[in-house]
Amino acid sequence: MHREYYGSIIGGKELPAARTDTMDSFDPATGKRLARIQRAGADIVAEAVESAEQALPAWRDADGADRGRAMRRLADIVLENLDLLAYLESIDNGKPLREAEGDVRLTAGYYEYYGGIADKIHGETVPLGPGFHSYTRVEPFGVTAHIVPWNAALQQTARGVAPAIAGGNVAVVKPAEDTSMAVVEFARLAVEAGVPPGVINVVTGLGAEAGAALVEHPRVRRIAFTGSVPTGQSVLRASATHLSPVTLELGGKSPNIVFADADLDAAAAGSLAAINFNAGQVCMAGSRLLVHRSVHDEFVSRLVAGDRAVTLGRGVDNPGMGPITTEKQYRKILDYLDIGRSEGAEAVVGGGAAVVDGLEDGRFVQPTVFVNVRNDMRIAQEEIFGPVLSVIPFDHDDEAVAIANDTPYGLTAGLWTRDLSRAHWVAAQIDAGQVSINNYFAGGIRTPFGGYKASGFGREKGPDAVYHYLQTKTVSIQI
Ligand code: NAD
Repeated sequence: MHREYYGSIIGGKELPAARTDTMDSFDPATGKRLARIQRAGADIVAEAVESAEQALPAWRDADGADRGRAMRRLADIVLENLDLLAYLESIDNGKPLREAEGDVRLTAGYYEYYGGIADKIHGETVPLGPGFHSYTRVEPFGVTAHIVPWNAALQQTARGVAPAIAGGNVAVVKPAEDTSMAVVEFARLAVEAGVPPGVINVVTGLGAEAGAALVEHPRVRRIAFTGSVPTGQSVLRASATHLSPVTLELGGKSPNIVFADADLDAAAAGSLAAINFNAGQVCMAGSRLLVHRSVHDEFVSRLVAGDRAVTLGRGVDNPGMGPITTEKQYRKILDYLDIGRSEGAEAVVGGGAAVVDGLEDGRFVQPTVFVNVRNDMRIAQEEIFGPVLSVIPFDHDDEAVAIANDTPYGLTAGLWTRDLSRAHWVAAQIDAGQVSINNYFAGGIRTPFGGYKASGFGREKGPDAVYHYLQTKTVSIQI
């Protein structure tokens, strides 16, 4: 179902392999090469920006209802191609097919949601007093750049592109080098859906080449970056040279807090999902589990039983958990398993690489639970981005809050309690952009999402995200 070559999509057309060098994309479950991907450089990035600029006037000046209709057609065509897109995302990333299907539905959901807002964007009148008429116009920036990581390529592309184009901007996307296939296929479908060529462009390539060239391009007027803290910092520095506003969606070390009065069955299932979904390669993974001491041992035994039951396999075969997407990430997780042990933590389940029959060259890691963890250990402070849970006991609510906030990050938090007052009090104390109670993944396209502290700034999702891609102009007249 996949093609042998995927190239950049510029002005609705895929660039041929002959234009540049290529890089390989691998199946993380088998280690085998899947496809060749175009390795675009600064010249191709410049072409993409130019193509976007050519598409800008017509798209910007179109009736919002027409933009919305095109975006809803795009949502429909994404769903019609769910099998293909989910398959590509699953083989390229390694994630179970059902999770990839969820990503495709979410992708369609973003275009539908923001397509529905496209004709409801407007400024306001300002009462300046008798003799004056004053109003604001909200206008798009122009070319927006979207730098996307490898853990959920399609839906994270949609998270930024959908609100940007709803407001009349035109987009250039740089997917991660390891997972470009589904994003390229999506951009082809966008043209089929009737989104004018040049409104959504995709440039494939390395971060240091295509990514850097895109964020350094002086005619890129707005940047949305999702990825690691160090790259986010370098994107911010690049944006300073031409003063483009930036949204940074960075990493996390999110606390997931289980109070003694919680529904422990629901909390255990939810806490396992919070760390094992997409093999823990999730920015908002609940990777620090704070458990009230009175239920600690019982809770840990539930986690152990849950992790032991996880099946590993090739994503397209829908196992409990797939392989780790990139070789670099696989090595990083294994290093952290060693670091945890050397710091004195104990892996009560998992703790190493896993070998799966018939997939001996796959990059599999055992889902792991560390106990005897202190919050100052590296495995509690640093983002591992794998199925590795650090469990820390606490005695009092104040202590739980203090531990939860004692991290450089502040992306999300989970709480498990039946006590409403406690739930809302703790939610207010936590430094995080999103707190979910009794369902770790509660929230979605309609709820604003983004980081406190080192997890970044700016908010995506929700209706206001459209306004992050718009600039306000005040017009005043003396009558
Ligand atoms: P990364 O920072 O290495 O790469 C992210 C993207 O940036 C890739 O497309 C890469 O090619 C590109 N890039 C690399 N160098 C660049 C440069 N100099 N200029 C411009 N672009 C450049 O991150 P990753 O390893 O791909 O992703 C994992 C990280 O992403 C984790 O820290 C994770 O928490 C974070 N993440 C955050 C969210 C969120 O919404 N907050 C979502 C998913 C992932």
